[in-house]
Amino acid sequence: MRPFIFKAADRFKLGGRVSNQGSAVVIELEGSKKCIGQFLTELLHNPPPGGRICSIRVRPRCYIGYDKFSILDSSESSDLQGFIPPDAAICSECLKELQDRKNPRYSYAFTNCTCCGPRYSIIKALPYDRVNTTMSSFIMCDSCRSEYENPNSRRFHAQTNCCPECGPQLSLVDSRGIKLESANPIDTVRGLLCQGKLVAIKGIGGYHLVCNALDDKAVKLLRQRKRRPDRPLAVMAAGINAVKLICTTTLREEEVLEGRQHPIVLLEKRPCSPLPYSIAPGLSRLGVMLPYTPMHHLLFDDNLKYLVMTSGNISGMPICYKNEDALERLKDAADYFLIHNREILVPLDDSVVRVVDGKEMVSRCARGYAPAVLGMKADAPVIAMGAEQKASFCMLQKGYAHTSQYLGNLEDMDTCTEYLQTMERMKVLLQTNPKIIVHDMHPGYFSTQYASRQSCTRLAIQHHHAHMAACMAEHGLAGEIIGVIYDGTGAGTDGAVWGGEFFIGSRSRYIRAGHWKYVTLQGGDSVIKEPWKCAAAYLYAMGIDSRGILNSVDASKIKLVEDTIKHNINCFKSSSMGRFFDCVSAIVTKRTRATYDSQAAIELESVADTSVLEYYNYYIHEKEDKLEIGYEKILSGILKDLKTGKPASYISVKYHNTVCEATIDCVCRLRAQYGLNDIALSGGVFENTYLLTAILKGLKSKGFNVYWNMQAPINDGGISLGQAAAAAEMVKEVAYVPGCTGKDCFNT
Ligand SMILES: [Zn+2]
Ligand SMILES: [Zn+2]
Ligand SMILES: [Zn+2]
Repeated sequence: MRPFIFKAADRFKLGGRVSNQGSAVVIELEGSKKCIGQFLTELLHNPPPGGRICSIRVRPRCYIGYDKFSILDSSESSDLQGFIPPDAAICSECLKELQDRKNPRYSYAFTNCTCCGPRYSIIKALPYDRVNTTMSSFIMCDSCRSEYENPNSRRFHAQTNCCPECGPQLSLVDSRGIKLESANPIDTVRGLLCQGKLVAIKGIGGYHLVCNALDDKAVKLLRQRKRRPDRPLAVMAAGINAVKLICTTTLREEEVLEGRQHPIVLLEKRPCSPLPYSIAPGLSRLGVMLPYTPMHHLLFDDNLKYLVMTSGNISGMPICYKNEDALERLKDAADYFLIHNREILVPLDDSVVRVVDGKEMVSRCARGYAPAVLGMKADAPVIAMGAEQKASFCMLQKGYAHTSQYLGNLEDMDTCTEYLQTMERMKVLLQTNPKIIVHDMHPGYFSTQYASRQSCTRLAIQHHHAHMAACMAEHGLAGEIIGVIYDGTGAGTDGAVWGGEFFIGSRSRYIRAGHWKYVTLQGGDSVIKEPWKCAAAYLYAMGIDSRGILNSVDASKIKLVEDTIKHNINCFKSSSMGRFFDCVSAIVTKRTRATYDSQAAIELESVADTSVLEYYNYYIHEKEDKLEIGYEKILSGILKDLKTGKPASYISVKYHNTVCEATIDCVCRLRAQYGLNDIALSGGVFENTYLLTAILKGLKSKGFNVYWNMQAPINDGGISLGQAAAAAEMVKEVAYVPGCTGKDCFNT
């Protein structure tokens, strides 16, 4: 902001000064009323790229008589709110310099300016000044220094400014850690990729494992070494035209691809795409991104247009971001390493987004988006711990919620360590010391156990209520609404696993007004990894013999599941929509084993022939003051269609349509009963674009106001924000007693 403000003040001939205080700026201005008015208009309507003006406070000051406008050094002490700036993709001006043979930064892999480059990933402390970043070890050369000091330069006060003379450098290392002499490491790497080699490449938030995406053999080798058999791999395409050859894109999707963050965008695959099937087996969508650092741009040429760019980790572990660590942990996965000497402090995966109904929807909030900041009228000193899968945490401070990046699954010890480290770092950056710790109701979650060991006031929030509260917080919804939460797993208050829920409530409280009918499932987490077990359980509940339907599964295994359900061994009740999708996928697509999260459901969506409008019969009845949607008629319809040889594409879409019809029907009944017209859709199952879009359209056509999570993930990545939002509201309603420790003070 400071260089931008300096230039604007200069243009309107104003005297004064500007300084950073936290991430707020304090501007003193002297000049005519008219010019000051013009300055403020400019500031509000044309802020610099990436700048965000939340509020402006104007106060009169005594006249000093400044003869010019100047930028002051950042003041460290301040009670103003600090924001942590996210990383930004290379801007168009820097890209021009990168490609201009006459420019001193021609083909320099670390070119950046005030508008672009790494931020959060390299910041040790706020304010964002070079001394507080890992760029502090590089001393600016005279030429860079003069750019930094020149108000007319694009790099005026660019904290990460550097050039080939004074900035970070690349080097090439083999899998034994031995440095290879190379005049131009990037040229060498390009050659290696063309030969089918796998290279670990250090980017902004960590390492990627990279290979030529058109080389099927290399892709399969990467899958094998990364121990990732089916999960789709993200592709980086040389440019927007290369993207259009492999996927169809809308204008909005192109805007997001080329936006400030350059995330992975989930796009519809073209049937004639030149990419091998092994990139995203069985799926209709592909995650694609554009080069976002200068180094990425240099990797491409006419012979290399598509790269697989997947997080540099071994399946299930956190992304590698330190050189020594990467060389150790990825030595069996990568043939070579393209490393550099700019240290990464905060690991960040690539963000994943999709466009639904013309709106960007963040599925994985990481590089470029994190930490995500949301204004929230709340003063409570809250830290929310998030969920077990797709972990994130959220801190409330001075009217804002700061949500961390995606931190993986907390079943892995290294991931837990990273999660706690990131949390400590964020406390330092925001200079906050939370007094209320908010967690899920699941007693087995790492975060719940961690919370129970802290001497803070504790508060547990029901999982699906947190999903709903996240959606409400994002859209600024206060009063009561209807929440439809379709999710995989979440602990209910009755000991069952919930996930097909209809809530009536606000951010602070809810009642369970309806849900999908319970089915008894068996076998804890193995049900998630083996969707056929879901199918066997649903069919058993209906008294139907699974053998012949689940014909790829051993009859003895099916019998074992049936027997354990009969004797109620290791069983639980579930209303989970995620498990219902797993069940149908196992029956229809024959996906009996999942090697990644939601594989069965994603494949079921992928085969759907979206032109079909039919749906199956279903029923909704009232039971103990709650609406209950049954699954039996739906499954009977599916089995009948299977018997008559209807294709999976037809049955899949008909099933999707049925879930939509039943949902809209149920919501209409709740509107009649409670007189509410605002609907929040949340939960991981809504990552299913067909389902979300269809329910959205259906509800809108019936006059509902429909909201869903866009900035914070609709999956468990958004749980921490929802927990924080719910807690903030509860604390307002129940007088918070500081110093009340170790008890679940707000649990009801
Ligand atoms: Zn730039
Ligand atoms: Zn320099
Ligand atoms: Zn969830």
